[in-house]
Amino acid sequence: MPDAVKALVAQGSEVAIEPGVGAHVGVKDSDYTAVGATVVADRAALLASADLVAAVNCPPASDQEKLKKGAIVTGFLRPLDEPGALKPAISRGATLFAMELVPRITRAQSMDALSSMATVAGYKAILMAADQLPRMFPLLMTAAGTVPPAKVLVLGAGVAGLMAIATARRLGAVVEAYDVRAAAAEQIKSLGAKVVEVDLGGIETEDKGGYAKELTEEALERGRQAIAKACAYSDVVITTAQVPGRRAPLMIRKEAVDSMHAGAVIVDLAAPNGGNCEVTQPGKTIEHKGVTIFAPMNLAATVPVHASQLFSRNVANFLKLLIKKGGELNLDMNDEIIKGSCVAHDGEVVNPRVAQALAAKA
Ligand code: NAD
Repeated sequence: MPDAVKALVAQGSEVAIEPGVGAHVGVKDSDYTAVGATVVADRAALLASADLVAAVNCPPASDQEKLKKGAIVTGFLRPLDEPGALKPAISRGATLFAMELVPRITRAQSMDALSSMATVAGYKAILMAADQLPRMFPLLMTAAGTVPPAKVLVLGAGVAGLMAIATARRLGAVVEAYDVRAAAAEQIKSLGAKVVEVDLGGIETEDKGGYAKELTEEALERGRQAIAKACAYSDVVITTAQVPGRRAPLMIRKEAVDSMHAGAVIVDLAAPNGGNCEVTQPGKTIEHKGVTIFAPMNLAATVPVHASQLFSRNVANFLKLLIKKGGELNLDMNDEIIKGSCVAHDGEVVNPRVAQALAAKA
């Protein structure tokens, strides 16, 4: 977005953009040139000349092959999900920074693109569900009688889940939510939602970084049973549960969907990692016995202005770490954020989890 380009130019960098890069969010090429960028129509030339390529997603192999030797690439590179897709860039000696690996520490909050996208997706998931549901969300007392409020169940109360709860509450729904992390219960309650209680027998559910751990099958099953009961009377279910680098946990079995009333809606935000619902078909919208199941692969992209604005600011803040005043690159591999988000440097995979994922997929 032009604001970020302006900051980079002011710092001493030369910024080139592809023509039409901001067209879908109403930003014209002239808005970029006005803040000091140049427009380069020849994509191959652009890739071959850039010291740093700021992408949104992982560039295709055909782009990676055109990168300047040793170039830096930033973006959502999915290094744990599809490490093999990064091989062409790694073999060109590229240095790769994955926005999803930026550590969740206080200093890196302004660079947390995962949270930005989850915020947008959580909001939009409720709007999708409300649009599809053949009922209204709020409690209404009208001359023609009382309209009961919609019942919404949110599974996983991280960034997306909490945004979904807040959005559903604003529309007047009655909301329940479930998460395995202890801290989530307070956050759910503070938004006016009820916690679905599940006795997991006191097992460890969080890792040191505050993320959910992969649960045992027994613990998952206890969760599924409580969720199935709540599904049976819910109008809308939003699922967001994820465990970094793993397939999303299965939380709603087919039988639980069978028990939902016709017209109910599920939005499975874990679809890119396999989904939380057994009948989910990632990337498709299906109907199962009258229940609509949305499984969007990139819901944030359907709110492109704010998704772009937030992502652009996250990337610009990250680039401030990599580029010194005067526009010179400065990769301090001892910096916790730079080290944590670096997938590969000088042609070597430097992140042990990515190296493991690559070996496992080889
Ligand atoms: P995520 O997208 O990885 O997962 C979404 C939610 O699903 C999480 O809350 C997780 O606990 C939950 N979950 C996973 N498995 C589950 C299961 N089997 N049953 C029920 N719930 C399950 O998570 P996220 O939204 O990216 O955030 C996760 C954590 O990171 C939270 O503690 C959040 O507060 C924290 N966070 C910290 C910062 C920061 O300090 N800068 C920024 C963002 C998020």
